[in-house]
Amino acid sequence: MSLLVNEIFYSIQGESIYSGRPCIFVRLTGCNLRCSYCDTRYAYEEGVNMELTEIINRIAAHRCRLVEITGGEPLLQSQTPILIYKLLENGYEVMLETNGSLDISRVDGRCIKIVDIKCPTSGESDKNDMENLKRLGSKDQVKFVIENRMDYEYAKETMDSNCPDFPEEQILFSPVSGGIAPSRLAEWILEDNLNVRLHLQLHKIIWPDRKRGV
Ligand code: SF4
Repeated sequence: MSLLVNEIFYSIQGESIYSGRPCIFVRLTGCNLRCSYCDTRYAYEEGVNMELTEIINRIAAHRCRLVEITGGEPLLQSQTPILIYKLLENGYEVMLETNGSLDISRVDGRCIKIVDIKCPTSGESDKNDMENLKRLGSKDQVKFVIENRMDYEYAKETMDSNCPDFPEEQILFSPVSGGIAPSRLAEWILEDNLNVRLHLQLHKIIWPDRKRGV
């Protein structure tokens, strides 16, 4: 059993409500989307085939019990849920970052899923699998990457219509890096009295010049 792996690295979690925690990242190769703001284009094709045991050994070399499986789109590879299961069985806290276009119910319920819902300006909003919003577990998170007012309105409307009871503090509104000032998005959230979480990509604040491994 193997997976095509783009990179494995130890860094600071920056894409969820777990932001700030040290974390081992496994970035898998391949993505079925092409978002306008994508910052991991290098993961579309580059990668090496690794046995699951080899991946687990690489993870075990770090003194850290939090692992995030990311991409690209990790669920494109059929063995990804097996890797997640094995890590959970080994006592790791496991997170999955997914672009929201593929069914998340294949993944072990103990895994914390960060599910993107693509907004219109990404160019990929027609690929969202809205059924995923009915598959969310109590620890899962939903993320909207927002570039302008149209995206913001779309995010509000999507959550209101599809899962009004999902805890707002687990909904992340994240400004597109270089696309909208975080202060603008913050003002909109406050004006509308939303209880969603303004989310900044912490790793990009810490290491603004790094292009990989963050
Ligand atoms: S889903 Fe993620 S990796 Fe794929 S194109 Fe969009 S931003 Fe890039």
